[in-house]
Amino acid sequence: YEVHLGRIITDDARENGVLLSFMDVKSHEEAGQMRSDFVANVSHELRTPLTALTGFIETLRGPARDDEEARDRFLGIMATEGKRMNRLVADLLSLSRVEDMARIRPANSVDLCAVLNSVRNALSQTADARGVSVSIETELEPPVLVAGDLDQLAQVFTNLIENAIKYGRKDGKVAVSVFRMPVFPAFKGAAICVSVQDDGPGIPGHHLSRLTERFYRVDNHRSRELGGTGLGLAIVKHIINRHRGRLRIESDEGQGSKFSVLLRDDL
Ligand code: ADP
Repeated sequence: YEVHLGRIITDDARENGVLLSFMDVKSHEEAGQMRSDFVANVSHELRTPLTALTGFIETLRGPARDDEEARDRFLGIMATEGKRMNRLVADLLSLSRVEDMARIRPANSVDLCAVLNSVRNALSQTADARGVSVSIETELEPPVLVAGDLDQLAQVFTNLIENAIKYGRKDGKVAVSVFRMPVFPAFKGAAICVSVQDDGPGIPGHHLSRLTERFYRVDNHRSRELGGTGLGLAIVKHIINRHRGRLRIESDEGQGSKFSVLLRDDL
C-alpha cells in the first residue's frame, strides 16, 4: 500500500482535519507486470516462426538455390510457419475482442444443442484425421437455451473439443454431455452443464490451476507440433467469465481429462 497524508482546509483557509488515504499499488504494479510479461511472450511467440522464415529464405537464396528437393521441403516448412503466425494473430485478436466486451452482458437466446452439433460438424475432418469419434449426449429436450453470445459460445466448445481431439488418445473417444443441475450454489439457481471428456493421457494435477493462463502449455513441444498457440483456454476462460459462468477442469493422469462449462439457466 501507498499511504498519503493530507490536510483538509476549509473555504476560509482554516485547517479542520487530516486525511489519510491508502492506495493499493500492488494490484496496479501487478497489472503492469502482467502487461509486460504478455508483450514479452507475444514477441517470443512471433519471433520463433519469423526466425524460421527468414532463415529458410536465406537458405533458399544461397546454398539450396539449385536443390529442388530441399526447396520443396523448405517451402513446406515456411508455409507451416506462416500458418502458425496467422493463427497466433487470429487468437490474439479474439482475446482482445473478448476482453473489450467483458462488461457487456451477452443476452441472446442460444440453443446449446445446435451450437454443439455445428461445432462437431466443423471439426469432423480434424477428428477423422486422428480416428477420434465425438459423441453428444443429452437427456434434455432440444432446444437447450441459455442467454449468451452465439459466436463466443461456439468458440468455447470449438476450443475444448479440438483440444480433446488433439491431446486425447489417437483413435479415442470424446464424449460431450449436456445436462441440467437444478441447484448450483455459485449461481444461487440452476445451471446447464456441458462437459467435454476425452480418454487421453490426462494432465498432471499441478498444471490444472494454470491451464487458462495465456501461453501456458503442459507440453510445449507437443502443443507447437500440433499447431497450438497456447491461447485457446485463456480465450475460453474470458468468454465464460463474460457469461458469468464457471469452468471446471478435472483430470487424472492416465484417465483422460474433463472440461465442464457451467452456464446460468435463467432464461
Ligand atoms: P494450445 O494452443 O497449446 O492447445 P490451450 O490454451 O488450448 O493451448 O491449452 C493449453 C495446454 O493445456 C495445452 O498446450 C495442453 O498441454 C493442455 N491441454 C488442453 N486440453 C487438454 C486435454 N484435453 N488433454 C490434455 N492436455 C490438454
